[in-house]
Amino acid sequence: MTALRTLFVASLTACSAGLAAAQEINIYSARHYPTDEALYSDFTKATGIKINRVDADDAGILARLKAEGSASPADVILLVDASRLWRAQVNEQFLPIRSAVLEKAIPENLRAQPDASGATAWFGLSTRARVVVYDKLKFKKSDVASYENLADAKFKGQLCVRSGSHPYNLSLFGAMTEHLGPQKTEVWLKGLVDNMARSPKGGDTDQIKAVAAGECGVAISNSYYLARLMRSGNPADRAVAEKVGVVFPNQSSWGTHLNIAGGAVAKHSKNVDNAIKFLEYLASPSAQNHFANGNNEWPAAKGVSFDNPALKAMTGGSFKSELIPISAVGMNQIKVQQMLDRVGFK
Ligand code: FE
Repeated sequence: MTALRTLFVASLTACSAGLAAAQEINIYSARHYPTDEALYSDFTKATGIKINRVDADDAGILARLKAEGSASPADVILLVDASRLWRAQVNEQFLPIRSAVLEKAIPENLRAQPDASGATAWFGLSTRARVVVYDKLKFKKSDVASYENLADAKFKGQLCVRSGSHPYNLSLFGAMTEHLGPQKTEVWLKGLVDNMARSPKGGDTDQIKAVAAGECGVAISNSYYLARLMRSGNPADRAVAEKVGVVFPNQSSWGTHLNIAGGAVAKHSKNVDNAIKFLEYLASPSAQNHFANGNNEWPAAKGVSFDNPALKAMTGGSFKSELIPISAVGMNQIKVQQMLDRVGFK
C-alpha cells in the first residue's frame, strides 16, 4: 500500500509539473509471450501508467530506433541476447541510468559495465543457458561434459548447430574467448567445423529435431527451446524432447554459458522516470517469475524463488553457470566473427 501511495504521489507530482503525457510509456519489445500481457496490465493497475507496445524482432527494433533517431517515441527497449544489447549500447541507442533498485537486484555480471558517472546502459532481466543436446542412443552424458568436447574426434560428422554468426553463438563463442583465450578458441571453432554433420541452417529447435531424427549426434541449443518442446501440447514435440539427452556443460570447470534477455531506457525517451519505474517493476520477484517463466528462462534478479517443471527436470534443480561479465561476451563478437570467417564457420 505504501508503495502504491508513493507511486501515486509521484504521478501527481509529474502531473503538476505539466507532464500529463508522462502517464504512458512506449515499449519496444522483442518478447512476444502471452504471459507478458499480465505483467503489463499489473503494472498499469499498480501505477496508473499506461503501456503502449511495439512488437518486433531484435533487428527490427534496432533498425526502427535508428530510423526514428531523436524523434523516437520509445521509452523502454526489451531485447534478447547480450551481443545485441552490447551493439545497441555502442550505437548509443540506450540512455544509461542510475537505479538503486536495479543495481541491488541484478547481479553485476548480468548488466552493462557502468560508465564514468556510474550509470548503467542495460540490465539483464532473465537468463538462458546454452546447452548441449545429444542422441541418447549414440552417446552418453559424459561424452559431452564440456563445450571443448564438441571438438573431439568422436563427434566427427555428428554436430548440428545454427549459423555461427547468430547472436546466440557469437555470445557463446565470445564467452569461450574469455575462458580459453582467442588462440585456443579458434582451434576449438575449427574443430567444431570439422565435426559438423551438415552446413549450419535453421534455428535451435531445428537442431534438437535433427538430433531426434538421427541426422546428428549432438547439437547446441538454448535451454528454453528444449523446455518448450517438453511442455508442448503437441505429442510430436514431446516425443522429440524424450529422444534427446541434455547436458549443462562445464560443470567441473567454469560453468555453463548463460545469456540474457534484458531491458534499457531508450536514448531519446521523454518519460525517463516512468521508464525506470517499469524496469524496476520487471526486477521485482513476482514480475521476475512471470517474465522468466513466459519463455522458460530463469530470473536474473537475486534471491527470487522460482518453479518451472521443465527447467527443474532438465537441471535436477540447479547447475553451475559461468560468472564472467556478460558485457565482455558482447564485446568479443567482432573478434569472434573474424575467427569464424578464418575457420569457415558459416
Ligand atoms: Fe531465441
